[in-house]
Amino acid sequence: MPIYEYRATRSTRACSHCRTAFETLQGIREEPLKACPKCGGPVKRIISRCRFAVVESSDRNRQVESKIRDYEASGMWSHAAELADKHSEKIKDKGLKTRALDNYKKAGYDVDTLLKHADAIND
Ligand SMILES: [Zn+2]
Repeated sequence: MPIYEYRATRSTRACSHCRTAFETLQGIREEPLKACPKCGGPVKRIISRCRFAVVESSDRNRQVESKIRDYEASGMWSHAAELADKHSEKIKDKGLKTRALDNYKKAGYDVDTLLKHADAIND
């Protein structure tokens, strides 16, 4: 069930529940709420930009993921490694980082040197 966000349309009639914003689980076919369940004041559904951002980034993750898989499948290890490496920094994903190192190895890089290099940057 999707989560919807609502907020009071008039702050003068709002309670602490609806003055900022509250979330509610609703079936997709359900009518949107018109009143706050606590105080009965008028509310409207708002679009959460944050939620959209999350969806976008997980779409992007899937794209990157499938690109990495493509590279791996065609034996382009250094391409796969670089992409996984860059993306793992961006999304702070340790699993992806390990995969990047794995691919670097397959590409013939010296992983120990790479790791030392990365440590040097982090210091
Ligand atoms: Zn309220």
